[in-house]
Amino acid sequence: MGIRLKIPTNHVRSESLKIREKLIKGEESNVVAKAGLIAHGRGEAFDYLLGEITIPPALFAARAAAASLLLASHPVISVNGNSAALVPDGLVALSREIPADLEVNLFYRSRKREDAVKAALKSAGARAILGVGRDANAVIPELFSERRKVDPQGIYSADVVLVPLEDGDRTQALKKLGKFVITIDLNPLSRTAQTADITIVDNLIRAAPNILASVKEMKTLDKTDLKLICDRYDNKKNLSETMLYIRERLRQLSRDN
Ligand code: ATP
Repeated sequence: MGIRLKIPTNHVRSESLKIREKLIKGEESNVVAKAGLIAHGRGEAFDYLLGEITIPPALFAARAAAASLLLASHPVISVNGNSAALVPDGLVALSREIPADLEVNLFYRSRKREDAVKAALKSAGARAILGVGRDANAVIPELFSERRKVDPQGIYSADVVLVPLEDGDRTQALKKLGKFVITIDLNPLSRTAQTADITIVDNLIRAAPNILASVKEMKTLDKTDLKLICDRYDNKKNLSETMLYIRERLRQLSRDN
């Protein structure tokens, strides 16, 4: 156990430091992989460019994601170490509200980590959790070793999959399997962001509650209205708007200097 950092509440980066602490604790309890800490750093850099807020294209994507999840016949939320450490309550609440299955899906898979992620979801109130141990006995073609394992009751038979913070190879493999892929990724340039059907360029910490709020709001809409929301969404266009937003923000900041 490392030395714990005491974060003053008035520290200018107190929120971001608290998030880092969550991930460090997660790493110590096997929920987060060491590489997950590095991936978080990459995410933080992009969050800086966004101004650490939910920008309009991210809100638009979150609404399209909610509509797609509500329209799905078998939606699954894929949970990796970082998401289990950062927003376990949010993902469990979302899975209940849609409703959708929760599946443990790890890049660096080991029984110890699967159990740790499962425990984190359980303490957030999850009941059924797929993808642990022998349950993950289906394979995603074209991927190697432990990365290919999924649950036949979950991701393998899903039509819509929400994969926060996924890597590019697996996103491409899921697309080839015919899945409709929704991702949350702060990097609009990542292969995952570019390949998914819906990319929410936002911090998972902000995106999870936004999707949940949209699901709650749209739950009473009929299928035709939900379909309209999905049809109006164009991921390439939304990613372009995200990049233009960053460009404009940097332009304004450079003027103020
Ligand atoms: P790809 O393989 O898709 O090109 P990558 O190599 O960056 O991308 P990983 O490192 O596996 O993929 O995934 C981490 C991704 O998650 C990064 O793109 C990073 O920006 C993003 N990320 C990290 N932390 C967060 C967070 N809290 N919220 C949203 N996205 C995040």
